[in-house]
Amino acid sequence: MRVCTFTAGGPPQLGIVKGDEILSISAAEPALAVDMIDLISQWVDLESVVREIDRPSFQLGSVRLLPPILRPGKILAIGLNYADHVAESGMAYPDKQTWFCKQATSVNGPLDPILLPKVSSALDYEVELVVVIGKRGRHITPERAREYIFGYCVGNDVSVRDYQLATSQWMLGKSFDTHAPFGPWITTSDEVPDPHALEIGCSVNGEERQHSNTKNLIFGVWDQVAHLSQVMTLEPGDLLFTGTSGGVGWAMTPPRLLKVGDTVKCTIEKLGSIENSVIQEK
Ligand code: MG
Repeated sequence: MRVCTFTAGGPPQLGIVKGDEILSISAAEPALAVDMIDLISQWVDLESVVREIDRPSFQLGSVRLLPPILRPGKILAIGLNYADHVAESGMAYPDKQTWFCKQATSVNGPLDPILLPKVSSALDYEVELVVVIGKRGRHITPERAREYIFGYCVGNDVSVRDYQLATSQWMLGKSFDTHAPFGPWITTSDEVPDPHALEIGCSVNGEERQHSNTKNLIFGVWDQVAHLSQVMTLEPGDLLFTGTSGGVGWAMTPPRLLKVGDTVKCTIEKLGSIENSVIQEK
């Protein structure tokens, strides 16, 4: 199933995406869940009810898709997780997982603009598979990680390279407002039997910049969930950005960074595409 958050002009609604239609969960069953995190938290009990919903419907093109989760509790992102990106970054091949945070205020819709910051022009893209956590867990084993994943999205770990690399902690350069677009919806994990077998790519103004497959992840999804949960409780709606492949603009000679007017499209097999244009921060 594909579940989304959208607006038809009023308050945000939860929906099911079927073809080019959205069935409104919020209109059909107003008391079911207040938002996506609430829906995910109760999914075991609500899935059968949600699957029965067959109206009312909206044309996908007539609504605005919002970030599937409007305010994730955590946005965790792993760096240096594809060999070709490690090489182009000039970093050592990792023997440990390197994690940083993107702030909740960096969340952005799947089709909404990315801001070129007032304070930097070093704006770059990173297409990434995004994992959506489905239930609370601590000390999860890799073998059981699948049970804790609700679904998957396409994400862009938009990065401001001068801020990222000015200090040993990357967080500031990864946390500008609008720099975590994801979506276009959440594809539930039952439809993605193997998250390590998905074609993944990014284009800028129609020109391919990144192309890989999630089979090339250095640390796979199960190991990421296991490692993080040794440290912290993972909760429904938490997001894991799972790393990007080679081809980022910063690593090119000369660098090919994002400019006002550019359109970045990130696509993952089975999960869809997000597309964001670049506008100047006022
Ligand atoms: Mg990244």
